[in-house]
Order: sequence, then structure tokens, then C-alpha cells
Amino acid sequence: MNNNELWQSVLAQMQLCISKANFATWFQNTDIIGKDQGKITISVPNAFSKEWLSNKYNKLILKTIRETDLNIRELDFIINPRSAKNLVVKNELEEEKIQAEQLKFEEFKVNKETNLNPRYTFENFVVGSFNELAHAASLAVSDNPGSAYNPLFIYGGVGLGKTHLIQAVGNKIADTFKKKKVKYIPSEKFVSGIVSAINSKSMEALKASFAPIDVLIVDDVQFFAGKIKSQEEFFNIFNSLYEKNKQIILSSDRPPNAIPELEERLRSRFSGGMTVDVDLPDYETRLAILKTKIEEKNFNLGDNILEYIASNVKKNVRELEGALNSLAIYCKTNTNMPDIEMVKKLLKGFVFSPFNVANHKKIIETVAKFYNLEEKNLFDQTRRKEIVRPRQVAMFLLRKELKYSFPAIARKFGNKDHTTVIYAYKKILQESEENNKLTEELNLIRQRVYSG
Ligand code: ADP
Ligand code: MG
Repeated sequence: MNNNELWQSVLAQMQLCISKANFATWFQNTDIIGKDQGKITISVPNAFSKEWLSNKYNKLILKTIRETDLNIRELDFIINPRSAKNLVVKNELEEEKIQAEQLKFEEFKVNKETNLNPRYTFENFVVGSFNELAHAASLAVSDNPGSAYNPLFIYGGVGLGKTHLIQAVGNKIADTFKKKKVKYIPSEKFVSGIVSAINSKSMEALKASFAPIDVLIVDDVQFFAGKIKSQEEFFNIFNSLYEKNKQIILSSDRPPNAIPELEERLRSRFSGGMTVDVDLPDYETRLAILKTKIEEKNFNLGDNILEYIASNVKKNVRELEGALNSLAIYCKTNTNMPDIEMVKKLLKGFVFSPFNVANHKKIIETVAKFYNLEEKNLFDQTRRKEIVRPRQVAMFLLRKELKYSFPAIARKFGNKDHTTVIYAYKKILQESEENNKLTEELNLIRQRVYSG
């Protein structure tokens, strides 16, 4: 077996083990370029592939190679930017095919039956440590709907791939289990359905429409907060499906225990299966996502530009896509590719700078919103528990994030005495060290303050 054949067999193996998106990102333009005394040298196109392959895939690659050649004991990765030979071939040969695929991509329409958008798949979902668990749980549910984890509850900030992931589960189940009836519904739509069913006295018909569903996917359930009638109806629908071992998949911007004004029985149903979070992607994953997306969108940008975007657009995946879209529009209207200075100009609005966004107003606003209060409630002179706790959290964050002095915080809250603020600060600090729920709440609030 020559080097080329050996590497082709490794690639074939790797393709079976990892998703298409990851495969394309990390293995494109790689090759074996040397074999010497038990050591194989692999050329990779850039430093990121090198780091990723040597850290994450070294073992797997070595194992595969050793299946054909036991003498090999070591791998060496070297960067060879001109190893882009595959790319050139691909550009020439596959251009037409890519164009055809692109057309197909644009034709993606929401399926009327399931409400799912076929563009959300596992194949184009990039996995990194920040969403590994959510991805694994979603795959498990796709393989064993109704019996792996029920319900599956995925939570995390805006634009981090929740909708993509839960729809990917739906698409995969609809594809593999043709007889199963899958239904995707955003919570807002569910709530408005309930409201109009009440008005037109057609609640029974609405409820009956859920009976034949095998997989029910409800997006953004934090929207149920405070909607009592919808919660009640949803509780009933949930139970009747759950009792029949039907799969339920939910997403939310926060964990069940942090959704305000949610009936206890629903909260306990929501957290009765598997609860997993998606976090912010790290640099490598941002880069991987960008590479997947430009391939999907069928346009090209230099590595330095992609690296610039990955280093600077950090808010979430949706923003990464937004940044790419702006550049795509530029490329369409200008014949030349933007240079890095142009890119910086074009992406000004996307560049993440925590120093611009964490301020007093932002903290108050975010805390109030998080606890479903109005901002002015936080300043009410009251000892009501639902107000006191959020107020203490706001005081704590003003101190912790902005380093405000205790007297300054006291003045903001109209207190003459700053010992109340010290008490609040110490209490939240101590409790957050002992109590995971509070720590999680603080993290979610911080995430929003910094990404707003
Ligand atoms: P959320 O529902 O959490 O607000 P979405 O699922 O709508 O976020 O994701 C926003 C955009 O980012 C979508 O276009 C989605 O395809 C894309 N996206 C998010 N996470 C990933 C990922 N891990 N890999 C590829 N694309 C992603
Ligand atoms: Mg969403």
C-alpha cells in the first residue's frame, strides 16, 4: 500500500467516525508526505488543522494506520499551505456540482407536515466541546426516540444552535423512521394556538391534533412563562404523549429551574429527562463553523479573513453567519475579494467588545428581564422575596462586574445605608459557592450582559 492509498483508507475510516462538517474542516487538503522508520509525516494546510488533528485525532489516525502497518508508532504534522492541490482540482472539477448543490440548498423549504426546515441537519452541525454533550444526547434520541432520554431539554443563549439541533433530531427521525409523525412547533405558536382555540371554542380539536404525534419538538419554552392557560394545556398534552412513550424535545434560553412563573408540575416534567446546555463556541469551533458555512454558501474567503472573523466575532453562531452574509453581499456586488482592511470596516458592527456592553444600565435591564420584572421593580422599597433576590443579584453584579463601590451602589438603589449592599453582596457570593442553581443563573445573566 503506498502513502496515498494508506491516507485514503485513513480518510475513509475518519469519515465514518466524525460528522461531515468536521471532516471537511479538519481533513481537507491533508496528505501523507513521508514515511520513515516508524514515523509518518502528514501535511496539513494551516496551524489550526495541525493543532486540532494532533490533539484530537492523533490517536484515532494512528490506530487506523497501525491496522495496516504495525511498524508505525508516531505521527508528525507539518504545515504546508501549498498542499491545497485537492482544492484546485475540486474548484475545477466540482464547480458545476457545487452550483447544483447550492441551488438545492436555496430551495430548502419548511416541510408542511412536520414544520421542520430540512436545512437543519447533523451533517452541517459543527461539534466542539461547547456543545458536545447536547449533540451526543440529540443523536441518542434520534436513534431511539421515546426511549433514550425523555424529554430531552436543551438550553443556552441566543444563536447557539438550539433550534438547529432540535430540528436536526426531527429531520433525522423523520428520515429513518418513515412512519413516525414528527411535529416542530415554536412555543409562541403554541400559545397563540391556545388563545385562538379558546376564542373559537375549539380546544378539544386542538388537543386531538396532538394525539397522533410520535415526536413533539417545542422550541423556546421560556415563552410559557406566566402563560397559565397554555401551561395547563401543554401539561396535559405532555402527559398524554409521555405516557405513550412518545418523544418530547424542548429548548429554552435557560434551564427549567430558572424559568420564572412556570408551574411547579411543568418544571418537574421539563427536568424529568435529560437536561443539557449549549455554550459559546471557542475559537477553533468558530473557525470550523465559518469553514462549513462558506462551503454551504459556496463562496470563498482567504484564511486570514476567516481567522479575523473567528477571533473577533464571538457573540454567537448567528452573528458569525451574519458576518459571513455581509461579506457575501460585498463579494456579489464587487468583483474583487475584500482585503483585510475592508473586512474590518464591513464587520465593525459584529466585533465583540465586552467593554462596550457591560454597564450599569445593561446589568439592571438584564437582571430585571431575567426574573420577569420591570426595571423599576428592582428599586421598589419592598421586602417581597420575588423582588429582594433579584435586587441582591443586581447589586452583586454591579460590584463584581463593574467594581462599583458599595456606597455608590447604595445610592443607585436609593438606600442611605450601604451595609445593605455589603450584606447582599456577601449573601449572593456565599450562596453561589454553595448553590449550583444560583451560579447557573448568574452565568446566564452575565452571558446576556456581555452579548447584548
Ligand atoms: P438558537 O436556536 O440557539 O437561537 P439557532 O439554532 O437558530 O440558534 O442557530 C443560529 C444559526 O447558527 C443557525 O443558522 C444555525 O444553523 C447556526 N448554527 C448554530 N450552531 C451551529 C453549529 N454548531 N454548527 C453549524 N451551524 C450552527
Ligand atoms: Mg432558536
